[in-house]
Amino acid sequence: MEIDGFRGRLITAGHADYDAARSVWNGSVDRRPRLIARCAGTADVAAAVRFARDHDLEIAVRGGGHNVAGTAVCDEGIVIDLSAMRSVRVDPAGRTVRVQGGALWGDVDEASQAHGLATTGGIVSHTGVAGLTLGGGIGFLMRRYGLTVDSLLAAEVVTADGGVVRASADDHPDLLWALRGGGGNFGVVTSFRFALHPVGPTVLAGPVLWAADDTADVLRFYRDFAAEAPDELGTVVRLGTVPPLPAVPEELHWRPAVAVVCCHAGAVRDGERAVRALRRFGRPLADLVAPKPYVAHQRSTDDTVPHGWHYYWKATDLAGLSDHAIAVIADHAYEAGSPRSYAVMFHMGGAVARLAGDTTAYAARDVAHNINIDAVWLPEESGERAAAETAWARRFLHALQPHRVGSVYVNFLDADDGTSRVREAYGERVYRRLADVKVAYDPGNVFHLNKNIRPGAT
Ligand code: FAD
Repeated sequence: MEIDGFRGRLITAGHADYDAARSVWNGSVDRRPRLIARCAGTADVAAAVRFARDHDLEIAVRGGGHNVAGTAVCDEGIVIDLSAMRSVRVDPAGRTVRVQGGALWGDVDEASQAHGLATTGGIVSHTGVAGLTLGGGIGFLMRRYGLTVDSLLAAEVVTADGGVVRASADDHPDLLWALRGGGGNFGVVTSFRFALHPVGPTVLAGPVLWAADDTADVLRFYRDFAAEAPDELGTVVRLGTVPPLPAVPEELHWRPAVAVVCCHAGAVRDGERAVRALRRFGRPLADLVAPKPYVAHQRSTDDTVPHGWHYYWKATDLAGLSDHAIAVIADHAYEAGSPRSYAVMFHMGGAVARLAGDTTAYAARDVAHNINIDAVWLPEESGERAAAETAWARRFLHALQPHRVGSVYVNFLDADDGTSRVREAYGERVYRRLADVKVAYDPGNVFHLNKNIRPGAT
């Protein structure tokens, strides 16, 4: 297969790199596209979209390849693969960064931190910028600087007809609004421009860990602690067995524990004050909060979720951390069979909650906590293991039913979360507005391997 004028690489079955090129982060995804078009630039992306349409090929778009649902790869069709488009250009004076559509968060953090700057990214550095941004973008800096999309100033987009448009506050503002949470529905984003903010480079960060038996007490304390926390303090709660990271004392490896992972995006001295009560609560197994480079913190859990393991997620926004919700979480979090399965809760609020709900397509800004239940098993483990872990995640979500609000973070949805959950992610009003923008930019639903917005849906 040839694409006229294509400068990147075209990879088909039988090519030595085919299996590596078709694999994504979630090792349980095993799809065989007819063609992988590894693009070298915007012109390649446009040519690949036109080629796909001319040859009636279904299109999957790959940014970082991290989405748990595996939508970055398809059977039979074409993968428009941006993994070779990872350039990051910082304008330190203007405090902005231009990022190509295949970059990873580690690329952005490293380049920006060279100037003491950063923008809100995910908590694992090998996650793709594109997919994360297009779903909203939550991370340690969001309470201070907003969601990733709140710093998104402009994007270059190849649309369904193979044309190239720029979306900004002045050009195609409807498209910019939709890209700020509406996912990969509106075209292939070849580059993003973000606002940067002063961060570190040294931040006070790391986890405090307690024994699993203390979970309910810790979470009740955490509920009040988080509610009072300054915007600079981002926290993520991790419940599961302790991963065998070099930074964690060996006697804690594989022990069930609850960890509150902190990152204070302000002066270290202020951070010490902000985390003092947390460190003093109960009897921590370990206090690993320390000054460190922001970039090092952002990479600190990368090895706990490597490419190629098998993953299955269930997620929901929470109505709050009532005593009963906490009891449900404490009862289910450690019931997984695999020591690699875990649950993670993000504390939202701060700058996220200060924008009105329809400012961007990411709408659920008043939610204080969400939870992502991550079932994990090894590729060599049995089908029974897969079934048991999957059942655990579903059971856990089901038990949380009385504590859910009607929203979910779209980037945490898995392949079996259907249309109704996509609508749930946005809420009816925002979903309908997205459906109108979809009509303007992709009326034929060319980009449908995603958390799909049906064109014109009411
Ligand atoms: P891909 O799998 O490459 O793409 C997913 C979808 O995004 C594609 O199907 C396509 O529809 C769209 N897409 C990708 N690239 C483009 C593009 N250039 N143009 C148009 N559409 C595109 N999310 C957070 O917000 N915060 C976190 O801290 C966080 N942590 C995570 C940690 C791990 C280990 C993992 C696996 C995920 C995490 N996520 C987090 C979720 C993450 O936001 C999503 O998985 C996201 O889809 C990843 O983006 P990607 O580019 O790597 O995905």
